[in-house]
Amino acid sequence: MSTVSISRCNSYEEAENAVRKCINNLGGISSFINPGNRVLIKPNLLLAKKPEEAITTHPQIIEAVIKLVKEAGATPLVGDSPGWPVDDLKRYWETSGILEVCARLNTKIVNFEASGIYKKKINGNQYYIAKPVLDADFVINVPKIKTHGLTVFTCAVKNMYGVVPGLKKTEYHKQSPNPTQFAQHVVDIFSLSKPGLNIVDGVIGMDGTGPSAGNPKELNMVLASTDGVASDSLVTHLLGKYPLKIPTTKIAYKKGLGEAYINKIEVLGYYPEVRKDFKWPPRLTSSLDMIPSSIARALMKFYWARPSINPDKCTDCKTCIKSCPVDALRAGVNIPEFNYPECIKCMCCMEMCPEKAVEVEKSLINKLFSRNN
Ligand code: SF4
Ligand code: SF4
Repeated sequence: MSTVSISRCNSYEEAENAVRKCINNLGGISSFINPGNRVLIKPNLLLAKKPEEAITTHPQIIEAVIKLVKEAGATPLVGDSPGWPVDDLKRYWETSGILEVCARLNTKIVNFEASGIYKKKINGNQYYIAKPVLDADFVINVPKIKTHGLTVFTCAVKNMYGVVPGLKKTEYHKQSPNPTQFAQHVVDIFSLSKPGLNIVDGVIGMDGTGPSAGNPKELNMVLASTDGVASDSLVTHLLGKYPLKIPTTKIAYKKGLGEAYINKIEVLGYYPEVRKDFKWPPRLTSSLDMIPSSIARALMKFYWARPSINPDKCTDCKTCIKSCPVDALRAGVNIPEFNYPECIKCMCCMEMCPEKAVEVEKSLINKLFSRNN
């Protein structure tokens, strides 16, 4: 049976206490790491955004984790690679508030883009994992609870995708445009990077069109578990969704990487009520599975969802063009233009847009069949 520890946490001022409670319930930090260990802490640093935008792991959660690691006599390092290659990484850490925490606590930030990679093969695929992750004695995964346009949900399993440096990340989107195929890559990378502990920032998460264009949502909890699949499963259950509907959870469970059945997960500490007000993202792929396949096939032509740019929000910064793995966006007269036949609907453009200007446009039939919107 897997165990997940939960603490109620109403604000980030209470984050340190909440993290401590969670870890103490699991036996204390010294039951995971030894004095002298090098411990890699992996937050979510998707974009250069302020903590209150709820896109990145909150610095006060990172501060609590760094303090715990130091108290165990180990050396913490903090590292991540944002969603696409950037040449001003320092600005990302600075804006997130994590740079200030690391400077104050004398903790090194490692740059995955410049620290080299290990090539690893699994399930017939080759992956590039940042060296500091595999060189560490122990990895603590510190994700934030958010929705995700392509994988539906991002938390413990999906957060480890950031151990793949820069542009390499987009290659898996190109190779596997189908969300389930892409989720296989995410799970492979999670299994290769082997986080020993997952500490989840669920104080303020994000619902709607996450992981960057959604809405901050008060969830008031911090979770910790050695089983990232179990903590993802419990979170999705608490947010009103059946865990095995999340592609990464389903695949990870089938591969034996963790528990997905709620009745087989022991919950320690606080058990929140299941939320009914959490908005899951619009489905980009077919949800015609409720009707006979012959009719569904006929309707597919008229059933679509695709990214579109809201001209009122777009600043024509062209970040979306650079982040598209298949060059389906090009510079336009005032804003970028889509070449829709090339688009694989990975939603990287939406994820990387700093202005929340990329939205999901749906055909009429899709709107009629969408159950979550
Ligand atoms: S990233 Fe967003 S703001 Fe920048 S050009 Fe694309 S749609 Fe416009
Ligand atoms: S246009 Fe957007 S959704 Fe389409 S392939 Fe490019 S990044 Fe992905």
